[in-house]
Amino acid sequence: MGYYTPEEEKFRYDLREALKEDVVPYTEEIEEGKIEIWDVIRRFAKRGYLGVMYPEAYGGLGKGLMEFIIVCEEVSAVSLAVDMSMTASAYGFGALPGYLGKDVERYLTPIIKGEKVGSFCYTEPDAGSDLSRMKTVARKEDDEYVLNGEKRFIVNGSIADYLLVYARNGAFVVESAWDGFEVVEEYRMMGLHGLHLGHMKFNDVRVPEDNVVFYTGEEKTKVKVEGEEKKRAGATNMFALMLGPERAYISAECLGVARAAFEAALKYSTERVQFHRHISEFEGISFKMAEMATKLEAMRLMTINAVKAVDTDFMKSGKVAAMAKLFNATEGFDICNEALQIFAGSGYTCQSPVERYLRDIRLLGIGGGTNEIMKYAIQRDLYKELEDG
Ligand SMILES: Cc1cc2nc3c(=O)[nH]c(=O)nc-3n(C[C@H](O)[C@H](O)[C@H](O)COP(=O)(O)OP(=O)(O)OC[C@H]3O[C@@H](n4cnc5c(N)ncnc54)[C@H](O)[C@@H]3O)c2cc1C
Repeated sequence: MGYYTPEEEKFRYDLREALKEDVVPYTEEIEEGKIEIWDVIRRFAKRGYLGVMYPEAYGGLGKGLMEFIIVCEEVSAVSLAVDMSMTASAYGFGALPGYLGKDVERYLTPIIKGEKVGSFCYTEPDAGSDLSRMKTVARKEDDEYVLNGEKRFIVNGSIADYLLVYARNGAFVVESAWDGFEVVEEYRMMGLHGLHLGHMKFNDVRVPEDNVVFYTGEEKTKVKVEGEEKKRAGATNMFALMLGPERAYISAECLGVARAAFEAALKYSTERVQFHRHISEFEGISFKMAEMATKLEAMRLMTINAVKAVDTDFMKSGKVAAMAKLFNATEGFDICNEALQIFAGSGYTCQSPVERYLRDIRLLGIGGGTNEIMKYAIQRDLYKELEDG
């Protein structure tokens, strides 16, 4: 592809071989609910890929964001449900002990090994795009924090061992075995079959001091990340740590799914015969392939651009990463849709892989911030840059 170092290419090659053995044979069974997704991930975790970015001393592979992005692309090309499940655990939750170097043995090592499952919880029934509407709140009682609230649409939420819970006035590491944690339901979804999407409640869950990521005090009504509040160590770093990288890895997930759809359609177009010719000989089909390939190339560049922005200064990477996520979610969906058009009737049945790609990729314009919220973030930075000169 020309954009990656020989080491990164080798890393990708080895990963693809590992996926062929550990995950590819089970994608249909995951889709049909015949195998538990975490049984597959646990086997794959033995290769170390869940800890790609964490120091070797913590049990990780000690690589950078680029390798993490390669993992997200390659795993998503096989199964987006697998990638989202492992990323929510190893990054959404694991980034906290991984980067702060806190409670590594207790909270990171078992996550990297796939022995425990983590999740990260922002979204609530009344707080989706607008997280300032969060109602989850903690009350300090002696040396404990009593957490009350509700979270929904949480990847792994219904089966997680450990949860990173964001509240109006802080963030807390919670164990699902503790009193007061309740799973309300697990959602059925149009795609991402096998992934556990949970709705949970926290009823007077008592969190020890050690598990407080940050706490802004009881008088705060919301977690602000603008202005003066930016200087608050915990809050700022946590949000910034999540946002740029999260958008970058979701861009890579879009790239992976769209690439799989493109490759399937390219092959099919050389096999299917109509009007005594392979359909690839019709310009109406081959020009679609040309457009899809061009979009994929642009998606790859947008992803790499987001990685570079995060690596250069993650606190300032929000706009570029939002552009990548918006572009890749939109164009990736188009590519999957066109792939299905090329498969036509066969594409609409569950006998081809492309209907899964189309259903799965639809989520990526919603999760991690909707396409509209990405546009909101981009224009906000544009006008701020204009104002700042
Ligand atoms: C499969 C899946 C996995 C998820 N994983 C997680 C997870 O692990 N952890 C987690 O915390 N959350 C997770 N989410 C939640 C996800 O991030 C939210 O669904 C998303 O942020 C949107 O929130 P909402 O669904 O409440 O939509 P709403 O915020 O209610 O938005 C409704 C519509 O209004 C639009 N809108 C809202 N505000 C504006 C605005 N200012 N300008 C223009 N349009 C606007 C939105 O774009 C959308 O089209 C997941 C969701 C799904 C479906």
